[in-house]
Amino acid sequence: MSNEKAKNEEIGIKVIADALKAGGTLLNVACPNCNYPLIKVDEKIYCKICNQEVYIYRDESELPKEYKQALKQKTKVSSVDTEVEKTIKGKIEDLRKKLEEAVDPDEIVKLSEAIEKLSQTLKKVKDV
Ligand SMILES: [Zn+2]
Repeated sequence: MSNEKAKNEEIGIKVIADALKAGGTLLNVACPNCNYPLIKVDEKIYCKICNQEVYIYRDESELPKEYKQALKQKTKVSSVDTEVEKTIKGKIEDLRKKLEEAVDPDEIVKLSEAIEKLSQTLKKVKDV
């Protein structure tokens, strides 16, 4: 798997290098999808890895109207929170597995407390 990742990185670097040779400018901004640096060509910004145009705005007020509305409808909170929920649930599952195998009383207490705290955090996140 790590080999494949290295391979992908190699391809990514090559694609970006080609774009630069073709007259693009490397930006100090990463693609929200793939995390590779974005490239500016003719006043437009592209991710050469995802092969699509990317729009960058410093803040919401710069967004065109239809984008602002789309943002409002999407309610940012839900997408962010599901990620947080996923992470917390994953951690709880990890801890639960450790707790299953734990024999040391101190460790059992620590793990139980950690699970308890994470569960509370999860509830808070869901309540928002
Ligand atoms: Zn990308």
